Amino acid sequence: MEKTTIEYARQLDQQDVLANFKDEFYVLEDKIYMDGNSLGLMSKRAEEKLFTLLDSWKRFGIDGWTEGEHPWFYLSEQVGAQMAPLVGGKKEEVIATGSTTTNLHQLVSTFYKPTGNKTKILADELNFPSDIYALQSQLALKGYSPDEHLVRVKSKDGRFLDEADIVAAMTEEIALIVLPSVLYRSGQILDIAYLTKEAKKRGIPIGFDLCHSVGAIEHDLHTQGVDFAFWCTYKHLNGGPGSVGGLFVHEKHFGIRAGLSGWFGSDKEAQFDMSHTMTHAEQAGAFQIGTPHVLSLAPLIGALEIFEEATIQRVRKKSLQLTEYFLMLVETELKEHAFTIGNPVDESRGAHILLEHEEAARICQALKADGVIPDFRAPNGIRLAPVALYNTFKEVWQTIQTLKTIMEEKRYEQFENKRGIVA
Ligand SMILES: *Cc1c(COP(=O)(O)O)cnc(C)c1O
Repeated sequence: MEKTTIEYARQLDQQDVLANFKDEFYVLEDKIYMDGNSLGLMSKRAEEKLFTLLDSWKRFGIDGWTEGEHPWFYLSEQVGAQMAPLVGGKKEEVIATGSTTTNLHQLVSTFYKPTGNKTKILADELNFPSDIYALQSQLALKGYSPDEHLVRVKSKDGRFLDEADIVAAMTEEIALIVLPSVLYRSGQILDIAYLTKEAKKRGIPIGFDLCHSVGAIEHDLHTQGVDFAFWCTYKHLNGGPGSVGGLFVHEKHFGIRAGLSGWFGSDKEAQFDMSHTMTHAEQAGAFQIGTPHVLSLAPLIGALEIFEEATIQRVRKKSLQLTEYFLMLVETELKEHAFTIGNPVDESRGAHILLEHEEAARICQALKADGVIPDFRAPNGIRLAPVALYNTFKEVWQTIQTLKTIMEEKRYEQFENKRGIVA
């Protein structure tokens, strides 16, 4: 069968072992949602768990901390245990807490121990701005100039990083390394095992931001010996807007003091002794600070159940098929329209496609007007994420056809070439 036909897309959908999961989600009416890497869609189970926890507040008041189906006092640990298989951690190594950026602050406060000439933090120039701001402010807090002490590995082409360049930058002066697992623009997967091994040889603690990989690709953090990791849960994990983040601390570090302390980092038995001498938790729970945001944890209970059933292995497998199919169609159907594929085309690609085009901002607006939800990343990137749990091959086909019509009819010209306030 001709691979560019809709019949072929339908055939791929028929062979899809995850097809039934689409019904778990509230798919937007008359839209093709290709933005699950920015904000995952709501599932029925996520909604139900939110209502369950609202109900426990309604019924139990303060006693909801220890009563009901999901006692709030243990919820961060429970959701952490649900996330552990997704990052390849032991359940004690993972906790649901904070947000990406606050968890980064916590972990840098804990693992950044500058001494003598070993004072610098190694990151990369393609890193997400919030991570860079956090690292800069952490350096400033210690009295170091962020300009001199934040080393950002350069990209040769503005899209990808070369692991060899990162390793070359692991000098005697580096006290801490913080890198993304998947680059948020190009979707390049960095080789965590290799980078961790090289960091370890040099005695430098290394941590990863998993925002664009958790729920999208498999992880093996414990075995790889990664020191720490942190992530958000509203992208591929579908936890909802502002859902509580996650962090991983390898068990070899259990017992070290969190840089930022608060009573929820206490041993649970001792927390309510109300002593001014803190009894620190021994495990990843030690990196919590204050009262968990229970209502922003609740949807995750349901959202993560879906991953337990679908399994990350099957999610990744389908995701690779979706993006492979997508790339094939870009090359056959859009070849006259000056798009550059900005993501890796081999299996070092994460779960989204990056198309670069000088008219990207208004092509995104035209896509939205025609019912396809992409996201724009300045200056010229169109990110499109066909999500394994709720997107179909047919939707990929339709997205390409929509894009083709927009380009052929120059429909983007009716829009201004600038980004929206939330792009
Ligand atoms: C989404 C994202 C963030 C967002 O941080 P929050 O604290 O959740 O707002 C940070 N870093 C990366 C790499 C991201 O993709």
